[in-house]
Amino acid sequence: MTYVVTENCIKCKFMDCVEVCPVDCFYVGENFLVINPDECIDCGVCEPECPAEAILPDSDDRASAWLERNRDLSKTWPNITRKGTPPADANEWKDKPGKEALLSMEPGTP
Ligand code: SF4
Ligand code: SF4
Repeated sequence: MTYVVTENCIKCKFMDCVEVCPVDCFYVGENFLVINPDECIDCGVCEPECPAEAILPDSDDRASAWLERNRDLSKTWPNITRKGTPPADANEWKDKPGKEALLSMEPGTP
């Protein structure tokens, strides 16, 4: 089992999650983060840290569509271990539905 980042993270990117991961398995894109499912040790520590409730176990039905996307993007995006500055409008995007089309495939800056 693993945890994955899902749609709620898009354009929020609060980054509270990266600080607590014991194996540093978060990777950063322009407006989204992903978990490398092959590195995640399934500890669950990051899940309650996310203000957007974007992190879910892969056993959750809402996570299944995001598992391979987390795996694929974690191979090309840079690793992130320290919280950066969230987008200025992050709170405006929190809890907004229908953000999937806004996901950028571009790598971010750790
Ligand atoms: S804390 Fe949540 S919203 Fe913020 S970067 Fe991590 S997964 Fe995304
Ligand atoms: S579940 Fe644990 S190992 Fe996996 S991403 Fe979250 S903090 Fe890291």
